[in-house]
Amino acid sequence: MKKIVKQDQDVIKQHNKQMILDIIKKQRPISRAELAKITKMSATSVGRFVSELCEEGLVQETDLTSSGVGRKAVQLDIIADAVYTVGVEIEKKRIKFGMMDFSETVVEHHRVAHTALESSPEETAALIGREISGLIKKCKISPEKVVGIGIGVPGVIDYEKGIVQFSSTLGWKNVPFAVLVEQILGIKTVIDNDLKVKILSEYLYGSAKGSTKTTLIGIGTGIGSALIIDGEIFRGGSNSAGELGHTTLDPNGNLCECGKRGCLQTYVDENALITEARRVKEITDIGQVFEAARADERWAKEIVSRTALYIGITINNIVCMYNPDTVILSGDLIENYTEIVDLVHEHCEQVIWEPFKGTFRIIASELKAEAIVIGAGALALQHFAPLAGADFA
Ligand SMILES: [Zn+2]
Repeated sequence: MKKIVKQDQDVIKQHNKQMILDIIKKQRPISRAELAKITKMSATSVGRFVSELCEEGLVQETDLTSSGVGRKAVQLDIIADAVYTVGVEIEKKRIKFGMMDFSETVVEHHRVAHTALESSPEETAALIGREISGLIKKCKISPEKVVGIGIGVPGVIDYEKGIVQFSSTLGWKNVPFAVLVEQILGIKTVIDNDLKVKILSEYLYGSAKGSTKTTLIGIGTGIGSALIIDGEIFRGGSNSAGELGHTTLDPNGNLCECGKRGCLQTYVDENALITEARRVKEITDIGQVFEAARADERWAKEIVSRTALYIGITINNIVCMYNPDTVILSGDLIENYTEIVDLVHEHCEQVIWEPFKGTFRIIASELKAEAIVIGAGALALQHFAPLAGADFA
């Protein structure tokens, strides 16, 4: 019995210490007195935790700053280069990297062309290993300071086991990718679905800051979504919540790559737009459709408008299901052709069910193309930084 009590006390201590570290991170610089006020802990307890954090090389005292009339208090700040993580995004034709420091700032970005579909998962993991080693050298960081790697992967991901269960973009099935990367560099690795990483990023640093219930829709080659509630990613039973590309819009509709008919993605993603356009004109890429629409060509304007209508319908369905306060539109289609956002707003006037009108905002992604790299770095910090997971100890 005594032992259990002791363990409980240790858990509480770790939790409190992590809370202090989090507050220093968010409100830096901050004094011990301010910390005591926010946490409602005694000055002695705060002092003890701060000393430990200083000894561990995570926190340091900075210049004296005036606090109140005539008083000066020692300020505390985290040590930004105490530890690092690497955020990675695997896309269809390239891989992006970001070196994130302990203050959650990406200090170096890097990208490399790579078509995962034409390589084995082992080759892709080896490439990631080489590029990260190069990045560590370039940033002149001692390798032992890099405590974790986070990777955003398009597809169905077993987040707890680090397995890519299915990814049509990469052509992978049941690939234990986290272990593959871990074995190469000896750095702990976490992988997650790209849109789940993206919504975490927008929640922590982007357009969903301050929102309690956010949905993110990603539209590019395919369409998917993610939901975050009070900072917690909604995962569903097998981490697949939000895979709305294969929800059925019309049972007699377009044939989908999955073998079913009328899946949502056959109406809204980039391939759908190209297929529609080719019925009218011989085009090679989606940019030509938007160029023609900008030049006021009727056929192109109709296709773009119809796509916006389907995005509006998707938003209505999502809002009816989850009642979010914020809907973020993201992905190549949205970020490369921003004019579509205005059209979506116009269509939403018609397609959003009356009781939900005015209850949420529709906004474009703030972090755009860097969102996943930043979110993946943050995910790795949440998992592997010192004191990370103290809540679950
Ligand atoms: Zn389908």
